[in-house]
Amino acid sequence: MKPMEQHAREYSFCAYCPKVCRFSCPVSESTKTETTSTWGKMTAAHLALTHQRPLDEGSAKALHACTGCMRCTEFCKHHNQPAGALFAARSATIAKGLQPAGAASTLATFAQSQNPFGRQLAPLVAAWKAETPVRYPFFPGCTALVKRSELIDQTLAVASAFGAPLGVSRAAARCCGYPLYAAGAFELFQAHARAFAETIEAYPELVVKDPSCAFTLKVIYPRFEVKMPARIRTVYEVLDENLPHAPVKPPMEEAVAYHDACHLGRGLQQYDEPRRLLRRAVSSVREAPSSGAEGGCSGGGGLLPRTLQETSVDVARRQAAELQQDGETIVTACPTSRRMFERAGRQSEDLLAVLKRWLDTKEGP
Ligand code: SF4
Ligand code: SF4
Repeated sequence: MKPMEQHAREYSFCAYCPKVCRFSCPVSESTKTETTSTWGKMTAAHLALTHQRPLDEGSAKALHACTGCMRCTEFCKHHNQPAGALFAARSATIAKGLQPAGAASTLATFAQSQNPFGRQLAPLVAAWKAETPVRYPFFPGCTALVKRSELIDQTLAVASAFGAPLGVSRAAARCCGYPLYAAGAFELFQAHARAFAETIEAYPELVVKDPSCAFTLKVIYPRFEVKMPARIRTVYEVLDENLPHAPVKPPMEEAVAYHDACHLGRGLQQYDEPRRLLRRAVSSVREAPSSGAEGGCSGGGGLLPRTLQETSVDVARRQAAELQQDGETIVTACPTSRRMFERAGRQSEDLLAVLKRWLDTKEGP
């Protein structure tokens, strides 16, 4: 069955819906257009699949106006899942030569280097060869590896202090394949996922830092019938489990705002774990008016920063405005979200970086 045919029911649910979730889509809230609303995008896919209106450049662009945040699903009575359905519809834009330039160039880069950054990851991974015994193999994700290597040092230090020593796994030299999935290159994604699964056959568990990678390995791989030999855990659940072994010290006198990363929250239902960790490190954690399952999106997923650059930054700006009631630093578990907030000119810090600062604080005068 072709990718779109598997989602026929989801497209038609939306096409015949009175746009119940209209307010929930961060992209259409930014663009203020009906074509990029959940209803508009899903209707374009429905009309194409039922041969009522062929895809053209405009509808192909609209199908790429989705971050895959799954926020619409939370407000849908049918719990319809437009994110995966829209990514499937992107496969048809590839077949018809209508893929937007940003998505096409992502696939070209991936074909060359097997990751979206066009870098060789193996030499980067080699820099973290563990010298002491580790309990868990660690998969940081390419964004941390390429863009925020200090985050890996911070994570290793925090995990060690919490009694859960991690060692960067050799599997980290491979991307999980999320960009292929988000681009709708489903055959390439499935082949990549199978090859990835083979590389971790030796591990009983893999601890993952990047929420998008964890979501891809844990939720998306099984949808593509790729069986994972290892149990996938996020570093947040491992650290939360180890909180009783964390150093006993007071939280830093700081007020921060917490942003739920879409793939960690809605994707993996991990809302409490990162909050418990953050509350141990700082004295005050602000919540946005919409948080948890209904929390906003930072605009970094679904290739949006590559297909609709200005919109993706505007989505981040809007989410930041909702979070920063008094100009607090936005703390998030997602390296991409942090990057998006910074691109929107807002101060943001990774949860692991906050935990490391807390561990480094000296007590007393
Ligand atoms: S996701 Fe649900 S609420 Fe939103 S347009 Fe589709 S069917 Fe309607
Ligand atoms: S998944 Fe997010 S970005 Fe995509 S249609 Fe739904 S609300 Fe909009």
